[in-house]
Amino acid sequence: MTATTVKESLNPYEIAQQQVDAAAKLLKLPEHVITLLKHPKKVLSVSFPVKMDDGTVRVFEGFRAQHNDAIGPTKGGIRFHPDVTMDEVKALSMWMSFKCGVVGLPYGGGKGGVICNPQEHSKAEIERISRAFMEAIVDFVGPDRDIPAPDVYTTSQIMGWMMDEYSRLKGRYSPGVITGKPLIIGGSKGRTEATAQGCVYTILGALEDKGLQAENATVAVQGFGNAGRIAARLLAEAGCKVVAVSDSKCGLYDPNGLDVSILEDLKDNASLADYGQNCVITNAELLELEVDILVPAALENVITASNANNIKAKIVAEAANGPTTPEADRVLFNKGITVIPDVLANAGGVTVSYFEWVQNLQHYYWSEQEVLDRLKTNMIISYEAVRDMATEFNTDFRTAAYMISIKRIASAMEARGWI
Ligand code: GLU
Repeated sequence: MTATTVKESLNPYEIAQQQVDAAAKLLKLPEHVITLLKHPKKVLSVSFPVKMDDGTVRVFEGFRAQHNDAIGPTKGGIRFHPDVTMDEVKALSMWMSFKCGVVGLPYGGGKGGVICNPQEHSKAEIERISRAFMEAIVDFVGPDRDIPAPDVYTTSQIMGWMMDEYSRLKGRYSPGVITGKPLIIGGSKGRTEATAQGCVYTILGALEDKGLQAENATVAVQGFGNAGRIAARLLAEAGCKVVAVSDSKCGLYDPNGLDVSILEDLKDNASLADYGQNCVITNAELLELEVDILVPAALENVITASNANNIKAKIVAEAANGPTTPEADRVLFNKGITVIPDVLANAGGVTVSYFEWVQNLQHYYWSEQEVLDRLKTNMIISYEAVRDMATEFNTDFRTAAYMISIKRIASAMEARGWI
């Protein structure tokens, strides 16, 4: 059977469960522990009405999953996207547990989502959707229970509205209920760049391990949201040559390198399509370019059994959550491609979210340098631990990262007397 005919599940929840199985097998965990890790502890499903600007009422559906709180309160973003499903949110909550575990944060994993398309709504409607969702989940979350944050299509402004709504409903100022807030109301310096910054530290580590230089290393970035655009900027600053970028509407490619600062300006004020060349490549073609570093920074399931064989990058750094399927992981591993898994590559975001929460609980705020120094140290230590585990067990980085996390979570469950 060739790779293109392999039947694989693209259900993120089933994928997350397969990933747990792969790591649990190497750790030789008892069956009941594996079963616990494969299922979120609690999942809340809500429907709520929101008044539109034209006076009509629309009913939205949303979810919040809490995977495992053995190590601490659950933590993870809320996404606004038309394709959100409960299974996706469950998978994302599991990935958050393993992400927090691999970088050693005192959190379990959580995730939320609202089925909506923010591009169809006015700012006022998005504010009402955000407040109504927070009202619907108000007793499920909390600074010592479950702490949301931004994710796909949610911004610091949305975090600000949600923090305000929670504080209003509880009758007390509660900045620690949510992270990724605007600076003036308890956000942390460095949070906006943290996901991309962390990702770049792991890429620099992988380049070094492969005997490659950052200088002139070629990069393709799929997705030009918070993670993708800042990763492109920071990689260019590190000396790499960003040859391709894309968003949902346009893909640009120039083997001589693109000017990332112009692209960022266009993204804010116009469209990538105005770059001075047409949208010359599709999102699918971008993934298959002959580059040193590929950064999938958009959504799940973009590298699958059907295109994994065509990936030519030497390093794939998953700024997005869940871009590579287990079948594709196997193909990339056999091709000698280093995949820096989401749970490690994009863990800088939740790491600085943790710093934000600590600052909120202490009402004492750190300098940007302090945040960045702590982020750097933590990312490098975590990267090296994953690399060493992968070498020891002759496995891929994802399985190694899961092994580190799962060991931590299992010890906490044991220490609490759950297993
Ligand atoms: N949504 C981000 C993630 O997937 C950040 C989560 C957080 O900061 O809690 O890691």
